[in-house]
Amino acid sequence: MASTAPPKDQTLVRCPDHHPNGRAVPYAAAVAPAGDGEAVLCGSKGCEKPGLIWTTREAWNLYEKGERVFYPRTFAISIKAGERVHVAPSSA
Ligand SMILES: [Zn+2]
Repeated sequence: MASTAPPKDQTLVRCPDHHPNGRAVPYAAAVAPAGDGEAVLCGSKGCEKPGLIWTTREAWNLYEKGERVFYPRTFAISIKAGERVHVAPSSA
């Protein structure tokens, strides 16, 4: 399937103990990675817990249209989201 993936964005992976505070980037939603989620870990230094994919509102809008691949600000990896939404954006 051809991807309409967004360009590298502010996608961040953090476990529930290290949710982004939203001060630097306004994260809107968090979804679990595809699969069992155990292979994608929190990026917080020293943390090895399974992480959630945090997206901006722009990336969330693409997720709602079916996009599942997200691109953190590195060329080292891309991440595929699953269907489990942990934090949905507020309607504000
Ligand atoms: Zn963590």
